[in-house]
Amino acid sequence: MDKFTQKYFDAFMADIIARNPGEKEFHQAVREVAASVAPYIVEHPHLMDLKVLERIAEPERIIIFRVPWMDDNGEVRVNRGFRVQCSSVIGPYKGGIRFHASVNLSIMKFLAFEQTFKNALTTLPMGGAKGGSDFNPRGKSDAEVMRFCQSFMTELFRHIGQDTDVPAGDIGVGGREIGYLFGQYRRLRDEFTGTLTGKGLNWGGSRLRPEATGYGLCYFATEMLATRGQSFEGKTVVVSGAGNVAQYAAQKAMRLGAKVVTLSDSDGYIYDPDGLDEDKMAYVFELKNIYRGRIKEYAAKYPTAKYFPGEKPWKTPCDIALPCATQNEIDEAGARALIAGGCQCVAEGANMPSTPEAIQVFQDAGILYSPGKASNAGGVATSGLEMSQNSVRQHWTREEVDAHLHRIMSDIHAACVKYGKEPDGTVNYVKGANLAGFIKVADAMVDQGLV
Ligand code: NDP
Repeated sequence: MDKFTQKYFDAFMADIIARNPGEKEFHQAVREVAASVAPYIVEHPHLMDLKVLERIAEPERIIIFRVPWMDDNGEVRVNRGFRVQCSSVIGPYKGGIRFHASVNLSIMKFLAFEQTFKNALTTLPMGGAKGGSDFNPRGKSDAEVMRFCQSFMTELFRHIGQDTDVPAGDIGVGGREIGYLFGQYRRLRDEFTGTLTGKGLNWGGSRLRPEATGYGLCYFATEMLATRGQSFEGKTVVVSGAGNVAQYAAQKAMRLGAKVVTLSDSDGYIYDPDGLDEDKMAYVFELKNIYRGRIKEYAAKYPTAKYFPGEKPWKTPCDIALPCATQNEIDEAGARALIAGGCQCVAEGANMPSTPEAIQVFQDAGILYSPGKASNAGGVATSGLEMSQNSVRQHWTREEVDAHLHRIMSDIHAACVKYGKEPDGTVNYVKGANLAGFIKVADAMVDQGLV
């Protein structure tokens, strides 16, 4: 960065920190994007005059609401609900809902900000939003989850709609929760529209939506590997998480010929030196999605696997790492451990799983590294395809959806290469993704005036 750009960047970040005190995840996400796009803004002074980045970093609307519900013992509980509508400049707000004890305004704002650029990258007309609650679904009965979802939607319904804001799932919100949320929305509005995505196949869902984030991640990583004449075939892969994204990333990596040796949850990780196979995957799907069990049970079922309580999987020797659990799960030490273990490619399935220090380690080591906003965009892209199918009241085949997903991931990769290619021929996927997403959103804002 030259002196002038650095001055612009420093002043911009100082303002962000002053206006949003204590929101460290939000600062982190904004800083990463601003560092990538500041030189472009300086070269295009009208973007500076029109305060385009300043406007994107101020959500169009934030809704915070009380979510009261009753647990199975008849006790009243109170949670906090959020919907951060960051940008609707290229389409209706779109982004997931997260139910996790850690949810707060900073996390919601960081996710909505990231989503705005990710959705622009998908090439589909979708704005950026995120929502959620500090409700923890772990250990709750189905009836409790249903009562919570109904109470949450009883406020949210007035702020969303198929042409306004279309929520989807995220951590703690899968098919069960989307069902309860959609049911209550439909009841309150008395209409059947595609206002939520991730719906069941019988009631408006898209084929391949559950698989889309994990599969799309592997399609994107395949393109990354191809830039160095490599593929998944014969590679050892470390996956973190054991939820929706991790399950399908592991399944696709395995089907592309890789040996997937780890899965994790917030209590620890399992290492299976023999690698996952179709039978073991079927067990994981059942364990996590039907019985809602813990990943340590995998090691009890398959004695060749070992469970490491309280640890993350980054010390495991591997060729490829697919972090698919949560934000900031790879710190500097984790990144160094991955490099020491031979890792050549990190493709993010989760949102912002690597800290800035970890990203620096990957970039200094010269390995392939892609940020989640590029490599996990297959999920929201397929949600966009679900919206299209709902609009025309049609169902596409699995092959049709998969072909769209392949093309979209390939297009996102091409955009990253276009904007992120360095003079030495390597691709800076962070710069590429941030610039490609920013230019699309910024141009639309310029076209639409000061709104
Ligand atoms: P799930 O709730 O299905 O799974 C989350 C997994 O991550 C669980 O195994 C969970 O373990 C683990 N996890 C959650 N929080 C932590 C933590 N603090 N430390 C360690 N492990 C943790 O969520 P998804 O798979 O849907 O989402 C995973 C990531 O992917 C998130 O970052 C999400 O934003 C991102 N993403 C998801 C998309 C989607 O389509 N679902 C689309 C794009 C991105 P435990 O059970 O112990 O909580």
